[in-house]
Amino acid sequence: MSGPSQHLVETIALDKVHGRGPDAVHAVKSVNLTVDSGDRLGIVGESGSGKSTLIRMIACLQRPTRGQVRFRGREVAGLPERELADLRASVQMVFQDPRSSLNPRMQVGEIITEPLRSPLLRQRGDVPVERGARLREVMEQVGLPAGSERRYPHEFSGGQRQRIAIARALAPKPEVLIADEPVSALDVSVRAHVLNLLHELVDEYRLTMLFVSHDLTVVRHVCDRVVVMKSGELVEQGRVEQVYDHPQQPYTRELLAAVPRLDLQRRTRPSR
Ligand code: ADP
Ligand code: MG
Repeated sequence: MSGPSQHLVETIALDKVHGRGPDAVHAVKSVNLTVDSGDRLGIVGESGSGKSTLIRMIACLQRPTRGQVRFRGREVAGLPERELADLRASVQMVFQDPRSSLNPRMQVGEIITEPLRSPLLRQRGDVPVERGARLREVMEQVGLPAGSERRYPHEFSGGQRQRIAIARALAPKPEVLIADEPVSALDVSVRAHVLNLLHELVDEYRLTMLFVSHDLTVVRHVCDRVVVMKSGELVEQGRVEQVYDHPQQPYTRELLAAVPRLDLQRRTRPSR
C-alpha cells in the first residue's frame, strides 16, 4: 500500500503557480517537506512567501501545479473519492480570521458538526456519527459555554469565534491540525489563551500540527521544528532551538532580527 518512506505527510517537488500568462504568480517552488506523526512544525516567512499556498495543497484544498503530496506514502492526487473524503476529515484547518471562515448564517452547532456530515464519511464509521454527543464534547474541550450551540457567530467574541473554528476542526478527530496564522487576527489580549488551548489540545489528542505564522515568537512557543519560506522556496529547516539560536541563512537572521530579543527568550510553554 505505501512506499518505503512512512512519513505521515510528504511533499515532493511541490509547485504551485497561481493564474496564467503575465499575471502568473509562482507561489510555491519545488518544496520537499516531511512531517512525521506528532511533529509540531512551524512554517514561517514574510507575507507572500507562499506559506498559505503550501499548506492548502497539503490540506487538499488546492491542487498542485506540479509535484506531489503524499499521505503515509500514498499520493493524494490519485486517491479515490471516498479515501479523499477520509483524508480531508483527518487533515483539518483553522484559518486566520474566524469572521470570514465561519458562515454567519449558520448556528454554531451546525458549523462545528459540518465536517461530520459528508455522506462518504458516514458510510465508513471511522468518524463520530453521534453528532450531538460529539458536539457537546468538542464544545467543552475548547471552552465554549454549554447550551450556546444555537447561537450565531456574531454573538461571540473574536477569541470565542476562533474556539468555534477549533471545535469544528477537532470534531472529526483529525490526525493533523493545520493552523494558518490562527491568532494574527485576534486581539493581543486573547492570543495567549487561544495559543495555550491549541497547545493543550495538540498534546492531549496527540495531534500532528502544522502551524503557519509570520510571527516567530509564537512559533517558538508552540512548535518543535520550523521551516523557513522565502519567495516560495524552503530556505532553512531544523529544530526550533537550532534554527533560532544558530540560523544558517541571512534571510532567517533578518526575520529573527525583527523580533524583540526578550520575546524570543521567553519560552513559556511547558516542556514535553
Ligand atoms: P503567505 O501565506 O506566505 O502570505 P500566500 O501563499 O498567500 O503567501 O501567497 C503567495 C503568493 O501567491 C503571493 O504573491 C500571493 O499574492 C499569491 N497568491 C496566493 N493565492 C493566490 C490566488 N488564489 N490567486 C493568485 N495569486 C495568489
Ligand atoms: Mg498566508
